[in-house]
Amino acid sequence: MKKIVITTLLLTCFIAFSQQKTIDQKVDALLKRMTLEEKIGQLNQYTGDNAATGPITINPNKQSEIKAGLIGSMLNVLGTQYTRQYQELAMQSRLKIPLLFGQDVIHGYKTTFPIPLAEAASWDLDAMELSARIAATEAAASGIHWTFAPMVDIARDPRWGRVMEGAGEDTYLGSRIAYARVKGFQGKLGDVNSVMACVKHFAAYGAAVGGRDYNSVDMSERMLWETYLPPFKAALDAGAATFMNSFNDINGIPATGNKYLQRDILKGKWNFQGFIVSDWGSIGEMVNHGFSKDRKEAALQAIIAGSDMDMESNAYRYHLAELVKENKVPIALIDDAVKRILRKKFELGLFDNPYKYSNPEREQAALNNPQHRKAARDIAAKSIVLLKNEKNILPLSKNIKKIAFIGPLVKEHKQNMGFWSVELPEVDYDKHVISQWEGLQNKIGNTAELLYAKGCEIEGDNKDGFAEAIAVANQADVVILSIGERRDMSGEAKSRSNLRLPGVQEDLIKAIQVTGKPVVVLINAGRPLVFNWTADNLPAILYTWWLGSEAGNAIADVLFGDYNPSGKLPMSFPREEGQIPIYYNHFNTGRPAKNETESNYVSAYTDLKNNSRFPFGYGLSYTSFEYSNLKLSKNKIKNTEKIEVSLNVTNSGKVTGEEVVQLYLRDKVGSVVRPIIELKDFQKIELNAGETKIIKFSIDKEKLSFYNAGLQWGTEPGDFDLMIGSSSADIRLRGTFELVK
Ligand code: BGC
Repeated sequence: MKKIVITTLLLTCFIAFSQQKTIDQKVDALLKRMTLEEKIGQLNQYTGDNAATGPITINPNKQSEIKAGLIGSMLNVLGTQYTRQYQELAMQSRLKIPLLFGQDVIHGYKTTFPIPLAEAASWDLDAMELSARIAATEAAASGIHWTFAPMVDIARDPRWGRVMEGAGEDTYLGSRIAYARVKGFQGKLGDVNSVMACVKHFAAYGAAVGGRDYNSVDMSERMLWETYLPPFKAALDAGAATFMNSFNDINGIPATGNKYLQRDILKGKWNFQGFIVSDWGSIGEMVNHGFSKDRKEAALQAIIAGSDMDMESNAYRYHLAELVKENKVPIALIDDAVKRILRKKFELGLFDNPYKYSNPEREQAALNNPQHRKAARDIAAKSIVLLKNEKNILPLSKNIKKIAFIGPLVKEHKQNMGFWSVELPEVDYDKHVISQWEGLQNKIGNTAELLYAKGCEIEGDNKDGFAEAIAVANQADVVILSIGERRDMSGEAKSRSNLRLPGVQEDLIKAIQVTGKPVVVLINAGRPLVFNWTADNLPAILYTWWLGSEAGNAIADVLFGDYNPSGKLPMSFPREEGQIPIYYNHFNTGRPAKNETESNYVSAYTDLKNNSRFPFGYGLSYTSFEYSNLKLSKNKIKNTEKIEVSLNVTNSGKVTGEEVVQLYLRDKVGSVVRPIIELKDFQKIELNAGETKIIKFSIDKEKLSFYNAGLQWGTEPGDFDLMIGSSSADIRLRGTFELVK
């Protein structure tokens, strides 16, 4: 048996190796035939003219450039028809090198899934892998080869609008999600249902000073390696084909011109064999940074630093050839970049059939697959976080006769898609996206009466609609209020210093609360918001983020208990903006506050508690879970050994529910200060009412390692605290163990 396994393994390795070898040989042979201009063409990416339906008129300059082999890749060309139109031009070029079509398929293609931060709240890696898989299937069937996702930037600052695009603040959770998403997008590269992933933004983009997008990042080596780089490494371990660099400078060097990041770490230490694309115009932007004196110097710095493809800045297109002729850029660097890109085109099978992915029948089938919508509904429900549920207002009873559904987001369709959703010209999104109103209607049918009032707009100070909203609320048995951001308030270039509910929405909540009716608040947003009054005074709050095509149905499922909420926050929610950056896994100080109110010469605010309003890992359920019987197989281990941890989790409530069992560690003393608590493992489990499950974890050397004082990854002997619980601030079981030499 063993023999067969080994032989099969060797054979698979051999086949993979020989395939790679033949691809390398083909790449080399092609490279030999290419002129310098054609080589540089492969490093050049332009945006398309993706207008309405019908054949598009491709800009005549672009047409001739493609035919001359001066463009290697396009972005923003959607659909089989248009991708084919562009590819046909490439097939008229001398060497017929196919174009690569890239697109921001961030959370779905035609089927819009929840925004990535919302999906992260599901802590459901399989569901996230599936959502990426479906997005890839739909995009690939439309002729897209490559998505600019996943974004794996750790984000501890909700002022930064791009927190919506990532997996939140935690490195461990973020790394697991990065891995799952890459696997989902890529499947088996070359398969027609797969797209290449592009891990972004390399690196530390999420740590922009003041949460202001594109801003500088000033970061220690320790923090870079410990907190910001691991999700990139995890994505690479999952086989990510490409990386994107970032707009920010890091410690004074723009990431795009940063040799240390791209050549030394990514292509060197990590042996990344794919290619790196710049962010949009980021090569040219190095002039604005004051790092390059002009675009020519920017091109020089970027190629030397390891940026292989220039997205939209034209710096490579117009300056690289000259730089080679002046002997400033060795041709070997150009050849290396070109080979990396060509290799991917071969791996995708584009040289065998440049139209392989642009298939109208497959496109039709993939874009209208009911299974995709079902998956979108499932993960949307899983992404919702129940923040508060006093007096068991939720789930709503199916016997309720009159429901008032109030707020500016109730009847919106497209808003539910959030930022970074793909908008296909042929789709009517008012029909495609299930509004929250429709979702509720679908759920209750004729069994109850549904009343509506808008109340107010998302922004502005007009309260004229309050009276009608109050009147409607007064007639109802229960009120559901849907408020929040506009979908374009969180996203790229959407930094905000004020994270309150925009406009007069909190005033609307106050006005409705006065009616004395039971009120459920739905908060729709792309980031953690600050809503203290609501959190203090309203009995039931669901954080619904932006949930995509099936938003309305998923919300109704949760409101009526057809899905028991299981989401857990992937970011700490601050009490006030003044606490930002705020994250759960901070260090201790020399003067830690003993309790939440102590502020005299300890590390605390004099006017506010230190902790978050809603902590990392937090989220309620309609049932309750009890943790018991923690057992550690050993209390002392050597580096080479493992501790098997087991515990019981019991569903002590009345309905089936899912719990995310979270395992945290604290390394008590180190050669450098260690976080007071760090997530190191988790399991999402489902339990029927009354059921108990034995949960097992294993603690090994990897979980105990960190970058020591010499920045070497490894363990140090000493004592550890083990904490298992339902959130980072709700630890139910504690143990200790010692790591000995
Ligand atoms: C964003 C990238 C994105 C690119 C292409 C840039 O502005 O930073 O994340 O992939 O545009 O649309």
